[in-house]
Amino acid sequence: MNLSIIIPLLNEQESLEELFSRIDKVCSNHDLSYEIWFVDDGSTDLSWSIIENLKVQHHQIRGIKFPRNYGKSQALHAAFERASGDVIITMDADLQDFPEEIPELYDMIKNEGYDIVSGWKKKRFDNVMTKNIPSKLFNAAARNLSGVELHDFNCGLKAYRKQVVKSIDVYGDMHRYIPVLAANAGFRKITEKPVQHQARPYGTSKFGTERFVRGFLDLITLWFVSRFGGRPMHFFGAVGTIMFIVGFLSTIWLGISKLVDVSKGIYGHLLTNNAWFFIALTMMVLGTLLFIAGFLGEMIIRTNRQHENYHIEEVI
Ligand code: UDP
Ligand code: MG
Repeated sequence: MNLSIIIPLLNEQESLEELFSRIDKVCSNHDLSYEIWFVDDGSTDLSWSIIENLKVQHHQIRGIKFPRNYGKSQALHAAFERASGDVIITMDADLQDFPEEIPELYDMIKNEGYDIVSGWKKKRFDNVMTKNIPSKLFNAAARNLSGVELHDFNCGLKAYRKQVVKSIDVYGDMHRYIPVLAANAGFRKITEKPVQHQARPYGTSKFGTERFVRGFLDLITLWFVSRFGGRPMHFFGAVGTIMFIVGFLSTIWLGISKLVDVSKGIYGHLLTNNAWFFIALTMMVLGTLLFIAGFLGEMIIRTNRQHENYHIEEVI
């Protein structure tokens, strides 16, 4: 099979049929064999029954239903595990992305040898204040921290070589950073393609402005995890050890100077009047705690290599 098209959705009943018929049309025009994975991320409208009806008529449709809203990352992860096409394409269900872009994205992966082609909504049809401007800042921060040169990390329309989605673990809100996860996993041929975008024809956005706060925290996590996630001891152990040593040496120095004073017959200098006493004490305590944190981190990694943070209600 040429293509797996993955569509996470939350209450998008109005768009699904039109979305499917446009995908079907463009794929048959280009002779591409495909499957579509609709992942219903806990919709409370008629989305799932529409998917079930579509599946009865069209064998290339597959569906995954979550019992509640787990989030877009979990939805993508569940479909990534099951997708069997050579090229995997993700797109939003709200018709903001154009299915007509699919053949060209497919071609860039298949024939130009890219691992990931990420859509770039160069001309964007969203609210300027709540989305376009914050998103520019956010993308600049993501570029700088991750070193992955993309203008539009959060675009729903992306294409992947199959191996890429099989080797990354999308969790939390990390769907924004799949190219960064892939780059960390060693897939470096990443490019972007300007794609068409339109205003949402139905429904409203499923993410509020808190997305930027969460997105930014995730970015810091990702930076930290990609540097030290595999070896927490390299960070916590190193900082902890240095702090402990400084604290310990200061204590010895304090002790010696006290003994020297005493041997000279000076008894007035109380150790507890010296600021270094408290600094050294704090450093030794903090250093030990950091060391323990690193050690616990290593233990957790060893015992908890596999984490599945969702359940699937049904796969059809
Ligand atoms: N979505 C989802 N789970 C969620 C939130 C969103 O599956 O918890 C889907 C949503 O239905 C849509 C896509 O993710 O297909 C992108 O969401 P949306 O269009 O609301 O985001 P925006 O375009 O505002 O960035
Ligand atoms: Mg949208």
